[in-house]
Amino acid sequence: MSETTSTENLDFIRTRVKDDLESGKRQNIVTRFPPEPNGYLHIGHAKSICLNFGIASEFDGKCNLRFDDTNPAKEDQEYVDSIIEDVIWLGYNWGDNLFFASDYFDQLFEYAIKLIKNGKAYVDSLSMDQIREYRGTLSEPGKESPYRDRTPELNLELFNKMKNGEFDEGECVLRAKIDMSSGNINLRDPVMYRVLKKDHHRTGDKWSIYPMYDWAHGQSDSIEGITHSLCTLEFEDHRPLYDWFLEQLDIHRPQQIEFSRLNLSYTVLSKRKLMKLVSENYVNGWDDPRMPTISGFRRRGYTAESIRNFCEKVGVTKQQATMDMSLLEHSIRDDLNKKALRVMAVLDPLKVVITNYPEGQVEELDAINNPEDESAGTRKVPFTKELYIERSDFMEDPPKKYFRLFPGNEVRLRYAYIVKCVDFVKDDKTREILEVHCTYDPETKGGNTPDGRKIKGTIHWVSATESIKSEIRLYDRLFTEENPENDSEKDFTEFINTDSLTINTSAYLERNLEQASPDINYQFERLGYFKLDSVDSKKANLVFNRTVTLRDS
Ligand code: ATP
Ligand code: MG
Repeated sequence: MSETTSTENLDFIRTRVKDDLESGKRQNIVTRFPPEPNGYLHIGHAKSICLNFGIASEFDGKCNLRFDDTNPAKEDQEYVDSIIEDVIWLGYNWGDNLFFASDYFDQLFEYAIKLIKNGKAYVDSLSMDQIREYRGTLSEPGKESPYRDRTPELNLELFNKMKNGEFDEGECVLRAKIDMSSGNINLRDPVMYRVLKKDHHRTGDKWSIYPMYDWAHGQSDSIEGITHSLCTLEFEDHRPLYDWFLEQLDIHRPQQIEFSRLNLSYTVLSKRKLMKLVSENYVNGWDDPRMPTISGFRRRGYTAESIRNFCEKVGVTKQQATMDMSLLEHSIRDDLNKKALRVMAVLDPLKVVITNYPEGQVEELDAINNPEDESAGTRKVPFTKELYIERSDFMEDPPKKYFRLFPGNEVRLRYAYIVKCVDFVKDDKTREILEVHCTYDPETKGGNTPDGRKIKGTIHWVSATESIKSEIRLYDRLFTEENPENDSEKDFTEFINTDSLTINTSAYLERNLEQASPDINYQFERLGYFKLDSVDSKKANLVFNRTVTLRDS
């Protein structure tokens, strides 16, 4: 921690970490990011990643990446791989500290034996439904199971049989023996193990029983020597159980601290719901650029830095709030304004013929790659007799204050010449403008205005003959409602924005983009920030994703 950082600037968790170090309660800091490999990471996870890895690095500690792989029914190696890729991409490093809760299955089993021997856990033969029924409600205490007083000897025997696969799924469970009348339902003899006859992606068919989240999580934290176990607010009521297990086992005690989860407007952040969007084909996979997943944002063109900055701005508190998507968009614009290479592209082309420009001539004009970064240099852009401009940059009969092209008016073509509209061709039937005719002033090359003429409009263009055609994917919000989960009657999928993806196959790009790199962010001047699609783009058919528009609309 740098000496100049005062406590006032720290969030409540960092303040606590700092205090724990200063008071000597902790000698070093160990945090962890504990994803369950049952889906891809989303922007909410990014908040947790930035927090856990951030604290570790600020306080000279370490942060483990631990897969919470305790439910083989839902977990998969594909998810493990994607999570690793995403955390690395976000810019974090766990060094040698990559762990799996499944690595602790033997140790957890031993811990369970200890609780059984101490009379703190028992094998229950009630059905899952009965267990639920006996649990009681918030206003009513629970009821004790008739199997609650089995002797430790019998429990050990039954638990070993569970382990050896001698019971079917649902026949029995191991429960902690705590208090069926506790005001905290989590303490009403929670289930620690259930029989699950499924192969695990790491332990194969070794186990017929698998630990429940609350049992696996805290003990995994303890085994790893975690000092501060940071989790979201819904686990606040689990903390007494977290502490109870550690106390009964008399092992290293991490401190669980809860913070509010990140919610984002116009999207959903729950793996279950994101899974539904993927499996029911509302989107094209977990990394669809409309998804709020880290892989989706990456494919769309978001930078890791913009996501980290966003998480920092969001901060860490205990207040529940939904962040506005526009805050995230602000963060990516801010970053790309500094980094993106400027190029010219026309998405909705209208042909312009420069009537006094020599047929067949190609002039290479200088264009600035990034006005925010001189070191990005310049490039050559070919200028020819036939060009494309945006259809919206010409009007036959413009309103006042329209400074772009219209009959008789002059505009500046970016990096090229001042041109004057002298004529246009219109389709008699459809009334569509087919072509605009202009003359150019050779004296005005590169933005030069020799006679001090006032030119109010500058528009972008590409050569009609020296450009490349490409596919552009434009994205809008995935949902039409700010909070698609708010309606108690309707499923969130009913609020999907059916116009969230627009595919444009008639765009023209300046020729330099033939060499476009999937690692570079581009600004198409006046149109927004774009990135080559890492999945579908091919040399013969370039595909670009619009990351974000230039301004908030
Ligand atoms: P989801 O609710 O999306 O299914 P999860 O909590 O089940 O997510 P995990 O893989 O268990 O997913 O999450 C790993 C870590 O990320 C946990 O510590 C969890 O608290 C944290 N996390 C998950 N969602 C958010 C969020 N929206 N904001 C902040 N942290 C989150
Ligand atoms: Mg979870």
